[in-house]
Amino acid sequence: MDIDAHAEELASALGEDTAEVKRDLENLLEYSVPIDEAKQSVRRKYGGAGGADATPSSVDIADISPDSGNVTVTVRVLTVGKRSIRYQGDDTVIREGELADESGTVSYTAWQDFGFEPGDTVTVGNAGVREWEGEPELNIGQSSSVAMEQDPLDVPAEVGGERDLVDLQAGDRGRTVEAKVLELEQRTIDGRDGETTIHSGVIGDETARLPFTDWQAREAVTKGAELRLEDVYVREFRGVPSVNLTEFTEVSPASVAVSNEAPRVTIGEAVGSGGMYDVEVLGNVLEVRDGSGLIERCPECGRLVQNGQCRSHGQVDPEDDLRVKAILDDGTATVTAILDRDLTEEIYGGTLAEALEAARDAMSREVVADDIAETLVGREYRVRGHLSVDEYGANLDATEFAPSDDDPAARAADLLAEVDA
Ligand SMILES: [Zn+2]
Repeated sequence: MDIDAHAEELASALGEDTAEVKRDLENLLEYSVPIDEAKQSVRRKYGGAGGADATPSSVDIADISPDSGNVTVTVRVLTVGKRSIRYQGDDTVIREGELADESGTVSYTAWQDFGFEPGDTVTVGNAGVREWEGEPELNIGQSSSVAMEQDPLDVPAEVGGERDLVDLQAGDRGRTVEAKVLELEQRTIDGRDGETTIHSGVIGDETARLPFTDWQAREAVTKGAELRLEDVYVREFRGVPSVNLTEFTEVSPASVAVSNEAPRVTIGEAVGSGGMYDVEVLGNVLEVRDGSGLIERCPECGRLVQNGQCRSHGQVDPEDDLRVKAILDDGTATVTAILDRDLTEEIYGGTLAEALEAARDAMSREVVADDIAETLVGREYRVRGHLSVDEYGANLDATEFAPSDDDPAARAADLLAEVDA
């Protein structure tokens, strides 16, 4: 049966004009919709019955749960991100992003090109539902159909993937950002097709900074470049969201303002996000934890050693170092701020050599941590750094650590220090 015959049959069943029905069918077939699905979609458009087949009835997105089975939804396409994945030995280009209706949004993966773009309103027939990171996700595959709808669905969600860096989260796909390349390094990795050169570094806009990886090592992505990056995806890397440029990412010049400030958030927000790169929090130091002050590290791996024993390297000749692990509380949550040697020397008011001397004089290495605790505990500090969350809690790898401007105790201490000097 050719398309004319199908159109003829359908038009007479519906009592509609054959040419018009044929045009609708052709539209759908252009998008690789199977003929049976196309006919059904056209039948629905003209108010006819859907026909007796297995296509599930339409549901609202809000009613979809990971065990919904197969569903049919009429939705607005919010984002379409492309990614190449290796599936059962073959490279497959998948499309992924978000769909919305009046009731909510849902993410999807489409295993072939159904031809829809952000902004299109489509009826997705017989989509599978699976669980992805605890949420339902639509799986649009071979047994699914996608039919274009003429009338755009009004949805309370933003069409398109444009976001500020501060709003990106691990799991985001099909996003567009404008950012400046702040740091860049070239690395060689052992990829799925052998050794590959990639670029990684840090990008920033007015709202935040984030690490990124350009898997194509594009020449246009150079340090200082201000770029529009269309179709990037975000995944977690070392505990923080990281922006990924793929072969499908379109890179073009843009004009980007970058802030030197890190976004100020509550500790509760930062911990709740699951990880943030370059944030600033304000909190009181409750406690200086064990493993602060004078510590010993393995010269091979840098891990903490106790009694000269490294967990990986056994008996080693340890190297002295200074570090602080301070528990910070702002009333919403707590985080362990980790200060490297430079920041610790500032707090301690002396160098590593001076700390070692003080320990020798007192015949105890503990005096250094005690001294630091005396300075920190009970005072409010502004801490900037990279926040990650693991099974043991939240850590803030500090890049800046300073008394809060509005903390009277710290102000008094600073003043006294100045008078002493
Ligand atoms: Zn070691």
